[in-house]
Amino acid sequence: MSAGVPMRRRLLVEYLRTVIGIRDERVLEAIASVPREVFVPPSLFPQAYEDFPLEIGEGQTISQPSVVARMTELAAIGERDRVLEIGAGSGYQVAVLAPLARFVFAVERLSRLAEGARGRLRQLGVSNVSIQVMDGTLGWRAQAPFDAIIVSAAAPAVPHALKEQLVEGGRLVIPVGDLRRQELHRVVRRGEVFEDTVHGAVTFVPLVGKEGYANGVPSP
Ligand code: SAH
Repeated sequence: MSAGVPMRRRLLVEYLRTVIGIRDERVLEAIASVPREVFVPPSLFPQAYEDFPLEIGEGQTISQPSVVARMTELAAIGERDRVLEIGAGSGYQVAVLAPLARFVFAVERLSRLAEGARGRLRQLGVSNVSIQVMDGTLGWRAQAPFDAIIVSAAAPAVPHALKEQLVEGGRLVIPVGDLRRQELHRVVRRGEVFEDTVHGAVTFVPLVGKEGYANGVPSP
């Protein structure tokens, strides 16, 4: 399918621009630069440029391109920014953030997925990223604070640790809701005030951890 890939990627970017309404050209360029087929299992290559989440093993999914684009746009990444992603999964969102940011830190709960993501990013020559296996509901204290944080899994509420790990003016983009449906929240830090706006409905796999869901069951 190699001959068709550049064309399919261009069509996806045009769809994100005209149908989904992504305005930030830097975000569209970043998506245009990342081969999404590298991040899906070989059997799903034909669907790599369709706007759907796809299975990546371990019961997890690679987010659909329009959601990756929207979250990246909401995170308003500057080229000097240090960014944190919670839920690295396949590594696709990390690969989209890497050309936009100074450095991307990412956390993944499942070591098998973290290893796969590291391998793909190495294969693509992406060097300004680091992926650690840990509970991302607690953030990554040793590397904090961050200019932007993207959470790629559904949270019952905004974890406190993540808000605390934002710089002044830092952006946190996170799906908050129950296990079937969430709203995309954008939280901006203004001193000790956190401005929270809502940006449409999404569906993610659960954020499992201390400030998340306990194996798919809401924590108190
Ligand atoms: N951004 C990924 C999407 C992965 S799906 C991509 O582009 O492919 C969400 C991921 O969040 C899953 O891999 C899941 O294992 C991970 N996850 C869930 N809870 C987590 C937690 N507390 N800390 C870190 N990762 C978590």
